[in-house]
Amino acid sequence: MDKKKKTRSRSPEETPTDTRAQKRYRVDDTTPPPFNINNYQLIKKLGKGSFGKVMLASYTIKSQLVAVKIIKKKKKTDYHDIEMEATILRLGHTCPFLSRAYAIFQTESLVLFILEYARGGTLHKLIKRHRYLNSQEAQFYSAELVLGLRYLHKYGIIHRDLEPRNILLDEEGHVQIADFGFAQARKFDSKACHGTGGASGYMAPEVLEDVPYNSSADWWSFGVVVYEMATGKLPFSPNGTFQEQLDNITNTEPYYPETLTPEFRDFIQQLLKTKVEHRLGVYANAQDHPFFSSVNWETVKERSMVPPLKPRIKQIDMLSNIPFPENKIRKTGMNKEFTYIDPSWLDK
Ligand code: AMP
Repeated sequence: MDKKKKTRSRSPEETPTDTRAQKRYRVDDTTPPPFNINNYQLIKKLGKGSFGKVMLASYTIKSQLVAVKIIKKKKKTDYHDIEMEATILRLGHTCPFLSRAYAIFQTESLVLFILEYARGGTLHKLIKRHRYLNSQEAQFYSAELVLGLRYLHKYGIIHRDLEPRNILLDEEGHVQIADFGFAQARKFDSKACHGTGGASGYMAPEVLEDVPYNSSADWWSFGVVVYEMATGKLPFSPNGTFQEQLDNITNTEPYYPETLTPEFRDFIQQLLKTKVEHRLGVYANAQDHPFFSSVNWETVKERSMVPPLKPRIKQIDMLSNIPFPENKIRKTGMNKEFTYIDPSWLDK
């Protein structure tokens, strides 16, 4: 018996020939293979995000590893947020520094984002492993992040939850900004965004203060991420109420180790400006800061800058086969353009 069939049969509802599964997922002969849930074999959990869990899976048609974000349709599910995340994931097709969707579809009970598997873990794990990064190492991750962020902002999207756990690394060590579950689209040059949210310790003063804000909030969070790369620590305490965190930001100066080069230190200081209009990224393009003076931006854009640190790649047990979660069937008002397939994924 072929191995794939044998492992699949551990979960009867996953077996393509099982009529119960076909009924449950409304899979029939006309369903294109990338939108057929039975063509994905779940291997292990990769993480948990704002909406649902992310699983490592094999797309069995191509024997390709993918990450599958599984969102259970619930009574209180905010489909507007899910649609927003889906819209942004489509941008990954044209910007290499954003997490990229190969396919997006839904069954009657689940929403599924089929994503490029970022095999190198997160920036969070990389920093923890090395304790802190030197100027040259931090320059590489910062440069790719700046391009990813500027691309989002060009499309009027504010990430609003930038932190090292949401920054993935691919097999070679290049950056992919992920988790757009909290992102918002704003009208150009308007301070359209509202709402406190994001990870404690990374929220900009204007977010903590709950006043309207724009992409400035991402440049602050980016500043916190760069500080963390430089020191392995957060610049400001993440503890206490929003008001206490805000007071802390206003009244304390972060500690800068003497070993930081003046350009590296100034880069962080320019990003961590409490006043929005004085913040790098807002008053000037972060790419023009002297911290990047040795960077060839064309090389960065082409992903030709060599990652300074090799990510740790774990071996994968391809035999595991976890069933998709059970969930109630729910009607949703998802718009027609929701279903998506990256054409270049099919071509490969
Ligand atoms: P998210 O919901 O996007 O925040 O994802 C939650 C966690 O799942 C992340 O912190 C990563 O550890 C993991 N994850 C998400 N997307 C991927 C991916 N494309 N490749 C590998 N791991 C991922």
